[in-house]
Amino acid sequence: MRTSALQVQGLAKHFGGVRALDGVDFEVDAGQCVALIGPNGAGKSTCFACLAGQQVPTAGEVLWQGQSLLGKAPAERQRLGVARTFQVAQTFEALTVLQNIQLVLRGAAPLAWWDRLDRRQPERAMHLATQAGLAMMVHHTVADLPYGAKKRLELAMALAGLPEAGADPSPSLLLLDEPAAGLAVAERADMMALVREVAAQGVTVLYTEHNMDAVFGVADRVLVLMHGRLVADGAPEAVAQDPQVRERYLGLDFEMKGLLDARG
Ligand code: ADP
Ligand code: MG
Repeated sequence: MRTSALQVQGLAKHFGGVRALDGVDFEVDAGQCVALIGPNGAGKSTCFACLAGQQVPTAGEVLWQGQSLLGKAPAERQRLGVARTFQVAQTFEALTVLQNIQLVLRGAAPLAWWDRLDRRQPERAMHLATQAGLAMMVHHTVADLPYGAKKRLELAMALAGLPEAGADPSPSLLLLDEPAAGLAVAERADMMALVREVAAQGVTVLYTEHNMDAVFGVADRVLVLMHGRLVADGAPEAVAQDPQVRERYLGLDFEMKGLLDARG
């Protein structure tokens, strides 16, 4: 029997009377690029927090490679190949781009106060920065970067914590909470091209997004969450035609035509 890389079963998270997640089931195959969409307050960030370990679900199960993630700290999940980014980019403003990546590199020796950060795997850090389109800015202080570059840096940092693609066959899951939030159209296209590139390297990607051009032309599959429940799950073309999704979320005049197409 084939087992999906990620299995989410009956996932629920209640905050007092608020059912942020109310019994969510889905599976994601290795290497798939899946968008989780839905209105504000639908439960997307809560879902990510339950997968990555910032929140403890009220009920349900999360299996990664057949192994339960629940009860494991975020760092432990990261060792198993599960990394995330946040809705508002979390970077170290006073450090350079390269130093931010070097700080979180997987496999580097634990950092001591006498260590030179600059000597930590500089080639691998440089490679990750280049992939994120930051090669020209590696020595810039993060506080001086445009927001789009900070968001790409955060993605590079999440990758830095994962097993090296290619060199190590262990599977990874990258959770991106609104990777294109706050980005201008051109920055958004760069970001989503990067997301596709990461998925093409075999990383399983699950992301949330409000900008429909970063969803329908990018994801292999779209999940729609409303009031803590999945109301649609399918190919972008199918979800875009779903009457309930059109009526309650996309708008009846929604068209995929004219949206950016980053899928190969
Ligand atoms: P989304 O990311 O889809 O906008 P969220 O997962 O952030 O949605 O929120 C889902 C619901 O859960 C909302 O009603 C929100 O107010 C509530 N919620 C989220 N986090 C908390 C929390 N830490 N405490 C109380 N309520 C929360
Ligand atoms: Mg959110």
